[in-house]
Formats: sequence, structure tokens, C-alpha cells
Amino acid sequence: MPDTTATPVPPGGRRLVVLAGPTAVGKGTVAAYVREHHPEVWLSVSATTRPPRPGEVDGQHYWFVDDEEFARLEDEGLLLESAVVHGRACYGTPRAPVEEALAQDRPAMLEIDLQGARQVRAAMPDALFVFLAPPSWEELVHRLVGRGTETEEEREVRLATARTELAAVQEFDVTIVNDDVARAAEELVSLMVDPNAAKDS
Ligand code: 5GP
Repeated sequence: MPDTTATPVPPGGRRLVVLAGPTAVGKGTVAAYVREHHPEVWLSVSATTRPPRPGEVDGQHYWFVDDEEFARLEDEGLLLESAVVHGRACYGTPRAPVEEALAQDRPAMLEIDLQGARQVRAAMPDALFVFLAPPSWEELVHRLVGRGTETEEEREVRLATARTELAAVQEFDVTIVNDDVARAAEELVSLMVDPNAAKDS
């Protein structure tokens, strides 16, 4: 188990929660549940260079920016962290809104990839780092390749990535198993109030 006693938990809980985990574990779905059912939790809106999917709204799901604008945000130090995800597009967390939410003592959450989580740990070590895990390796494989739309080569790449990503669990303070979206999301929200609630799980 990782050492969770190193950083003292301030009264009222650790307000900033960073949710990460392997590809296809359902981070986005858990974050969407929190957005819908817990308006008291502030969710960071990331900037990304990937194009919007149908139904995605600029400023709500992401800030959709071009490469030039993303580079400007990075160069001017306006991102708390940034990463190229799946070798395809850039993603980053705008710094100022996170700082504002924390200054207002609002529970705040970032849903980002592992590379980003490591950067936030370096910048904000007091945050609580939560790893969303699949119920089992078999279930993750099922979620990753379940649609069967990828080639054998793509499938192998995804599985190799998943293995590496799962190994990162030991870097995190808390693990939540995504066996049920609502249950996992409620457990996550409870950590923002009482981070000791799921420490031993
Ligand atoms: P999608 O394009 O499917 O919405 O997200 C792809 C991946 O990018 C997910 O693993 C998500 O966690 C990650 N991601 C979303 N926003 C950020 C961000 O601001 N920073 C980092 N590092 N990863 C992000």
C-alpha cells in the first residue's frame, strides 16, 4: 500500500481530488455522474486540441482549441499540467479556475490521464490522488476491446498500455473500483468531505 500518512489531511478534507486510471476504465462516465448529481463539486474543464464529438459543448465538456492556442496556454504557464494522450491530441488543465475553486473552498475535481496526475502531484502534493480501477483485468480487457472494431495490432497496443497503466495504482492515495458508476462516484465524492472514508478499501 502507498504511504498515505505523509501528507496531513486538513480539517474538512482534502478539497482537490485528482481522478485517474487506465484507459477505458470509465473515468469520464464517473465524472459525468458527479457533474450531474453533485453540483456542489466543481469539475475542471480541460483544454484539448481534439475535435468535439457530437453533443460536446465548448466550455462545458472541454475548451476546444487549436494547436497554436494550446501552445500559447502552455508557454504562458496557464496550464497546471498538460499531456499528449494516446499519441493523438493535447490535453491540459487550466490553472486559474482550479486555484479559484480552491480559494473559495469548493470541493474540486480533475479527471485526467496518468501523465497529468503525476504533474499535479509535483505541483500540488496536498491533493488527494484517486485511482479508478476496473473490477478485474478481464473486465478491463472486455471494455477495451469489447467493441471488436480494432485490428489485432491495435488490440495488442491497447492491452500493453492497460498493463502499464494498471501498474501505476501504487502511486495513488486511494483506489476506487468502478464496479458500478453511481457507487464509485458516491465514494469519490465522499472523499472530498472525509478523505479517510475509503483509505482502507
Ligand atoms: P477523451 O478524449 O476521450 O475525452 O479523453 C481522453 C483522455 O484524456 C482521458 O483519459 C482523460 O482522462 C484525459 N484527459 C482529459 N482531460 C485531460 C487533461 O486536462 N489533462 C490530461 N493530462 N489528461 C486529460
